[in-house]
Parts: sequence; structure tokens; C-alpha cells
Amino acid sequence: MSKIYQIYGQDAHDMTLRLLEAAEAINLVPAGGSVALKPNLVIAGTPESGSTTHGGVLSGCIEYFRAHGVQDISVIEGSWVGDETMRAMRRAGYDKVCEKYGVPFYDLKKDKTRPVKSAIGNIDVCCRALDAGLLVDLPVLKGHCQTVMTCALKNLKGCLPDKEKRRFHALGLQKPIAALGAALKPRLIVVDSICGDLDFEEGGTPVQTNRMYLGTDAVQLDAYGRTLMGLTAEEVPYIELAEQYGGGSTKMGPDDLVELNKPSDAATYPRPSGTVASLTRNVHENQACSACFASLVRALYATRCGQGEEIYIGQGWKGKSLDGLGIGACCRGASNCVMGCPPTAEAVAKALESLRWG
Ligand code: SF4
Repeated sequence: MSKIYQIYGQDAHDMTLRLLEAAEAINLVPAGGSVALKPNLVIAGTPESGSTTHGGVLSGCIEYFRAHGVQDISVIEGSWVGDETMRAMRRAGYDKVCEKYGVPFYDLKKDKTRPVKSAIGNIDVCCRALDAGLLVDLPVLKGHCQTVMTCALKNLKGCLPDKEKRRFHALGLQKPIAALGAALKPRLIVVDSICGDLDFEEGGTPVQTNRMYLGTDAVQLDAYGRTLMGLTAEEVPYIELAEQYGGGSTKMGPDDLVELNKPSDAATYPRPSGTVASLTRNVHENQACSACFASLVRALYATRCGQGEEIYIGQGWKGKSLDGLGIGACCRGASNCVMGCPPTAEAVAKALESLRWG
């Protein structure tokens, strides 16, 4: 079983350096090999909003690997369908980090891809993720409106082209996320759990948990994160699936957690509030992309309309006649549809408001 190194605090740069030093992470870089840092830049949101990895995690990694002689370091990421990676990287402040250290940032939406064998068949993966000497997975531990939680395994979805991301949603997310994790099997993961939003991957209601942890097994780290969030295996099944596919082990022994310091305040981890589940309890979701679903959630949250309405969303409704409000181009067969792929939250909110006022 792998060890998990954990540290408490709020200074992402310093915490990252200390974690990498404690774990002697340099030993994971092949001689003369490159390091590719893969943060979570799902949307154009600030780390303080609870959606994206803190820039200090990147600068901590860069300083550590540079100090140990690694020359070829880059930052790689492709934000979700419907957002621009470069806009997201500026919003998160990565442009300043990359400029300061002279490290290139590569938008994976523009990268070449290669098929990789997995438990669900071939998956097209961006070459920069595949060709790195060491791929360093830098997720945020936070909630997700479809998979309840997202961390190390799901963060790897950013290594896919948009077309493949959409296919993952059509396949129901759980199996593809597990299969991708087992196929890529990142050997170093540093989790940013300083202030992730516990309900929603887009952030907006960050919860200060002031902790980071590092490990070498994405399955083990996700199982640990799930425990921290107070969630069950039934609520986040892709972790056990990844274990079955050979992606790692969910097991953790009493000596496997190495704490580098102690929290200065209460150590209990807040639970997700269940806001998203409550807002979407009447929504007929069928293979919806995250960006599409997030637009709907944001609109439901902002307007508090739509309860009691028949709302349809997802690729599974393509070509079907639907009696109710359709969200996105896939649901153009609905009696009333908000077009777009994905539609904006503003457009969805307008449609919800018009339902209310007739
Ligand atoms: S309309 Fe929505 S669910 Fe359909 S492909 Fe576009 S983003 Fe995905």
C-alpha cells in the first residue's frame, strides 16, 4: 500500500514544497525525463472560489523539481467543453506563474491524441499527457453535480480532447472515469483541499478545509477524499471500479497516513450540503455533459424556478420528442428548448423565468 502525506495550512506553495520533499518525489522522475503538471482548470474560475487548483501548487512543484535538476517542466490542461482553456488559465493566475518561472503552458484542446487501451476499449488521450516522463495529477477535492465528488481520477478527464469528453458523458461517466484512471495511472498526485466547493465543481461556495495531501495511488487518494467528504462507496462508485480495472487500491492501513503537522483549528471535515441534489431532483438527466448540466444547475440556483416542471437534459434524449423544457441542442425535440451546446446559464435562467410567468 502507498503512503499518503498530509499537511494543514493555507499557503499552497509552501505546503506543496513540504509534501514533495517529505515524499522524496524526485525519485519518481525517470533520469533525464520531463515533468508535466496537470492542474484542475475546469472553468474560468479563481482557486478562491473553490473550483480550480491554486497557482501556489504549480509554483511549489516547479521550484521543487527545478531544485532537483529537472529542466523540462510544463503545465498542461484542457478545460471542459464550452470553456476556453487559455481564459481559464489567466483567471486562475497561471499566466503569472508560468511567466515568472519561464515554464510553458499547453492547451490540450489543441494537442494531438493517441488511442490508449482501457477496460472500456480504446480512449483517445492527448499526447502531452502520454509522453511526459512524470505526469503529476494536481486535482482539487470538491463536489461534482453529476458524480457527487471529483478528485484525482476525474481530473484526468482534462487530458482528453472535447470529443472524447462528450463520449464519456454518453457512456455514463462512472466506467469511463475508472477506465481512464487505470489506463493512465499517474504516479504522483498532489491534492489541493484548501477550499474546494463541496457541492459543485464550478465553485461559488468554497469551504475552507485548509489541507493538502500527496500520494502515488489515485484510487487510494480518491477513497481517502471520499471519506473526508463523508460520502459512501455507493455515492461515488467509480473509485471501486477503477480498483477493479487495476488502477490502484482503495485500502489504507493505520500507518499509511503521514501527517506533517497538525491543524490549528477543528479537524472535522464539513459534509456537502446536498444543494445540487435538491435543485435537480425533478430533472430528467440522460448522459448530459458537465458544462450543460452546470448551466442548468446555476440557472436553477439563481432563479429558484423550475420545481415541478418537466426538464430534460443530455445526449440520451437526442432525436426524441419530449413534453417539457429541453436544455441544450440534444433536446431540440422538446416542446420548448434552450438551444446551445452547451447553452449558457443565462439563457436557461431566462427560459425558467418565462415558465414561471407563463
Ligand atoms: S447539448 Fe449539452 S449534453 Fe448535448 S452535446 Fe451539447 S453540451 Fe453535451
